[in-house]
Order: sequence, then structure tokens, then C-alpha cells
Amino acid sequence: MNNPILIDGKVIAQTIKEEIKSEVAQLLDSGKRPPHLVAVIVGNDGASLSYVKSKEKQSQEVGFTSSVYKFPESISEKEFLETLDFLNNDSEVDGYIVQLPLPKHINTKKVIAHVDPKKDVDGFHPANAGRMLLSMPSYLPATPYGIVTLIERMGIETSGKNCVVLGRSDIVGTPMAVLMSRKGMDCTVTLCHSKTANLKDVCKNADILIAAIGKPHFVTEDMVKEGAVVIDVGIHRIEDNSEKGYYVTGDVDYNKVAPHCSYITPVPGGVGPMTIVSLLTNTLKAYKHEIYE
Ligand code: NAP
Repeated sequence: MNNPILIDGKVIAQTIKEEIKSEVAQLLDSGKRPPHLVAVIVGNDGASLSYVKSKEKQSQEVGFTSSVYKFPESISEKEFLETLDFLNNDSEVDGYIVQLPLPKHINTKKVIAHVDPKKDVDGFHPANAGRMLLSMPSYLPATPYGIVTLIERMGIETSGKNCVVLGRSDIVGTPMAVLMSRKGMDCTVTLCHSKTANLKDVCKNADILIAAIGKPHFVTEDMVKEGAVVIDVGIHRIEDNSEKGYYVTGDVDYNKVAPHCSYITPVPGGVGPMTIVSLLTNTLKAYKHEIYE
């Protein structure tokens, strides 16, 4: 049994935001314009609108110019792609994100491929995914980037460790596995999915366990090695009798798992706050042309 160290994503995210804010202030002092991040949203999905609102608010907090392009659900794919052309060609837009999911009649993969890779601050474009695979400079997808940053800023040793990633989605699990195996992180990585055999045994072998499967409390104490680092990516709203009517939890059964960990992220307040901060970091990189000359 351990007394785990809490990985406080809120505090680390706030520190990074302060760093970005002071860099933006210096840019403004030297007479330059601020970085400009645009969020594009289609339809009225409550969760998507609230994510976009939070991105807008946090962009403004660090001194960025922030714009939201909102379109009705009825927009055709052709019209939508034309809007992206406009953003691709606007020299005063440094980066933009297309809030997912999109309505069914708009092909998400086509949309992602239509974003100028130089402005793809979500890091979803095939060019950026390919560059990441080849260890070339690229925009890293925000959530995995945020997790790598948490691990680095906490000074957690990764070299030679067994890392198990639960979930192989394009935006979380797969890039996470790539990043943990890259030079610098140097983990030996196992990427698990719904067809993985003997999942409990595989997880039990993890020095670092990253859960991104989208199932509340899936990771239980019998899946966790004594002293492991556990990173919980999951976000779930579970209805209850509280005033709010729900509580937020993750893919890990925190209360049972935490006593067996050396480090653990809480939900909320672990990985979540890092995702938007990584987007801000990518936007600053886009503004400075750090990834593409
Ligand atoms: P996703 O696209 O639904 O992918 C889930 C993955 O988990 C799939 O690869 C699936 O395998 C695997 N899986 C499902 N059931 C499994 C099982 N019983 N055993 C082993 N693997 C299983 O999810 P996602 O978009 O990566 O998101 C995962 C979670 O992270 C969600 O709760 C989401 O809300 C959260 N999230 C949080 C943030 C943040 O900022 N904190 C950002 C993004 C996502 P198959 O491929 O075989 O189907």
C-alpha cells in the first residue's frame, strides 16, 4: 500500500498558462499582434458548445485573440470545406480547431485532411500524425501532449519502464502509445483494445498505466501493479442525488486503485485541464512558426 502522489493537472496547467501569458505580454510590448486561435463548431451539442466556450475563455486569459465560427447543423460539406479554405488563407489566423463530433453528413476524415497542417493545432491532420511517427517536429494531439507534459513536469522516470495504454483511438490511445515509445520517453509500450487477451495480466505488468477506454471505473485494483503510475484520461458524468445531479469520474476506480499507486491523476483535475493548455501551447508554436518554417 502506498500514499500516492497526486498529479495535479489544475496546478500544472495554470503554471503553463502563466508562462504563455507572459510570453504573449512580451510580444505585445514589442508591438506585435497576439496569437489568434479560432474554434469552428457545427450544431448545438451542449458538451461541444461548453468545450468551445472553455477554449475561448482560456485563450483570452492568456492574451490570445479568440474567435468562434458557429454554423448550423444544415451546413453542407462543400460549404463547410470552403469555410476552412477561408481560415487556411487568413494570415491573421495562426491556428484553428474543428470541434468534433461533426454531423453525420460531413465526413470527419475529409475535414481533418482539409485543415492546413501548419494551422492544425489539434494535431489531427495526417501530415502531423505522420511527422509525429517519424519524430519530426509536429503539432501533437492535445490530450496525449498534455499527458506527456504532466509526466515530464512531475519528474516521473519513464526510461525502460513498461507502459500499458488502454484504448487505441486516433486522438488519445494511439498517439499516446507512439509518444511514450519515442526517444526521450523510452518506454516499452503495449497498446490494448477491446480484443486484447488477458487484459488484467497485461495491465498488472505496467509501471505506467494510461487508461483511455471510455468506461467508468473500468480499471480496478486487481489490474494495477503495486507502485504503478496511473493516468486516467476518462471523463464521465454519473447521475446522482447531489444538487448538481451528477458527479464526474474517470476510467479508473480511484478510491480502490489509488492506495496501490506511486502517482495518480484525479478526475476531475488531472488530464482534463492539460488538454486545453496543450492547444494553447500549439497555437503559440504556430504563431512562432516553430513546427513549419
Ligand atoms: P474511444 O474513441 O471510444 O476509444 C475507446 C478505446 O477503448 C477503443 O480503442 C476500444 O477498443 C477500447 N476499449 C473499449 N472497451 C474496452 C475493453 N473492455 N477492453 C479494452 N479496450 C476497450 O475513446 P477516446 O476518444 O479515446 O476517449 C476515451 C476516454 O477519454 C473517454 O472517457 C473520453 O471522454 C475521455 N477523453 C478525455 C479527454 C480529456 O481531455 N481528459 C480527451 C479525450 C477523451 P476498440 O478499438 O477495439 O474498439
